[in-house]
Amino acid sequence: MCRKVLRHSLKSVNRNSKADEAHQDYAFHYRLDSESTRAPVFHHRLAELGRAVLESLLNVVVPQSSGEDVKVDGFRWLMDREQSYPLFRNLDKPSAFSASGKPKGNQHLEPDKGDGPAFQSVANASLYEPRIGLLAELIESVLDLVEFEYQGKPVKVDGFMLKDLHDWTVPSTGSPGEVIDYAGGRCSCDCVFCCNKGNPPSVAIRDNVSRTAGEDFEEIKTRIEYFSPESGLALFPSLGTVYEVTAHPFFLAMLRKLRAKTSRPFRITTNGNNLTPEMVAEMAELKPIYLYFSLNSSSPLRRQRLMKDPHPQTAINALPLLREHLIPYAAVIVPWPLGTLSEMLDDLSTTIAYAASQEAHLIQVNLPGCTGCFSPTPGLDFRQVWEAAIEQVRELRDKYDCPIIAMPTLYEENIYHKRKNLPQIIGVVKNSPAYLDGLRKGDTILEVSGLPVRSRPQARDLLSVLRQSQANTLDLKVQRGTSTLQIKLDSTRHSYPYSPDFDAYFGMVFMGAGFRVSYLEDLKQVIEARGARRVLFLSSELVKPSFEQCLAETHLFTNGASRIDIEVPQNRFFGGSIFMGDLLVVQDFIDHIQDYVARKGFKPDLVVIPSSPFNLSGWGRDLTGCVYLDIERATGVPVELLPCATIYE
Ligand code: SF4
Repeated sequence: MCRKVLRHSLKSVNRNSKADEAHQDYAFHYRLDSESTRAPVFHHRLAELGRAVLESLLNVVVPQSSGEDVKVDGFRWLMDREQSYPLFRNLDKPSAFSASGKPKGNQHLEPDKGDGPAFQSVANASLYEPRIGLLAELIESVLDLVEFEYQGKPVKVDGFMLKDLHDWTVPSTGSPGEVIDYAGGRCSCDCVFCCNKGNPPSVAIRDNVSRTAGEDFEEIKTRIEYFSPESGLALFPSLGTVYEVTAHPFFLAMLRKLRAKTSRPFRITTNGNNLTPEMVAEMAELKPIYLYFSLNSSSPLRRQRLMKDPHPQTAINALPLLREHLIPYAAVIVPWPLGTLSEMLDDLSTTIAYAASQEAHLIQVNLPGCTGCFSPTPGLDFRQVWEAAIEQVRELRDKYDCPIIAMPTLYEENIYHKRKNLPQIIGVVKNSPAYLDGLRKGDTILEVSGLPVRSRPQARDLLSVLRQSQANTLDLKVQRGTSTLQIKLDSTRHSYPYSPDFDAYFGMVFMGAGFRVSYLEDLKQVIEARGARRVLFLSSELVKPSFEQCLAETHLFTNGASRIDIEVPQNRFFGGSIFMGDLLVVQDFIDHIQDYVARKGFKPDLVVIPSSPFNLSGWGRDLTGCVYLDIERATGVPVELLPCATIYE
């Protein structure tokens, strides 16, 4: 009853907001945890109030004195200077993921179920907008001490709602995908390899379990209202688990609303299960659209077994429909060893042949894996599966007119290419300028418009800039076998499945960017600013070879002022076959540094970590919602993030 009164008054504020008199914003509600579920550090409530609020604040701001960053790890009350209180929970114990699965710091991990309107998840929101978590922490701590009143009577408060959503807009890439994914709350399949399965309990990405499709759509409409590609702003993200967006009853309505707002291309990931002739025809009205189509198998029986797709033929039949309606798509295949390895490889060949015959823009083979919490096939040797699938992909590349990539692409490079980061083309999109002007798989780019090219990231960057400049022609010098060729590309000449809306490199397909030489200059600056002599650089299995190559060839570190040890932390948190650097979490880094110190018998002066595991938002959070600053707090070793792009490609 009282909650209703509060909500009503807050909704009135929203209604009167300057955004739009006619539009009523979706209400972003968050449930408060009670004292008993929050596991306070101090039982003295006033001490806990100070500690919890300051800890949350220090996870979102960096205090300074005279313009310099300062570190804070405790506080005293002004009226009692004798007693000091530590700010942080005890972080320096080795990890106990499997024992508790509970993260350090993020308390709001249970699904936000409850009566009345659906609460948003504080955990999901805090991953991208930790000031929501800070507010929750502040109100919860205050509520441990006081009761609120309304007209002289106590009122029970169990949640809070954001007032004017204009206060909560953040920089946006302007990509419509930032909104589309909010339709992904459900799925009509149940794939054996679904990456939404097997997350350890402390991953801070939650299902919106209690929401109806109508409530989802109310939020989506509000997000569209505040989505402004032109001004580069959108409402803060708070994405939970994303399943299948086309399964949402309001999927097309959402796309229509978005199209009315922006002409930017839609990139949509789908399992194809809802791509009926009617759906495809409706989507064609809303182009430009590109689909990442999880085909997985062109055999109805195998697709049914892998994905529990109740009507597999719909997706399989959708490929010719997409071609008919000129909607480009990447056919995505997860080669899962259902049955024997050779059955899997046969099916991979047949499925690739089918996708190529239906003019897929690209075929993307995603190497499968699973976490330590979920293995549908215990004892499975994933490395054997990956290597067999890559070998098959390499054979099939010569057979079809369609680029075929195995993701993550650096895995293949590390096995087969002694020299890393070569600007070599691994496939050419059919009917693209690159295809029509004679570029071929295996060509290595030597020059782009007269500029010499030495690495893949450099080639990709140059081509991408020229694509955006809408240059009509460009001159390439390429190496083909022992010959050097000059090729002039006419970027105005192309047809389906190529699309200038979606192709950054005129139809040339490369492996991933890997480690950029330019990162070494940033690394040198970071090391010099700290005056560090013994540096530990924490890399990943995928990137380490290209980093080592860059380091061996640079003159930046030859003065011997610092020694750099390169090591690869294990993905202990996700476990299983997961080995991606981008999926490392704070505790993996803490464990590795503690192990390093024990092995070497000294602490490094500085630990440098590529920022990509913390790139989810600008707040330096890992997937459990912990902030990277916890690594330094736990180990006592200074930690710097080296800004790097996410490398899963
Ligand atoms: S279609 Fe995608 S979201 Fe649905 S179960 Fe399969 S992998 Fe998961």
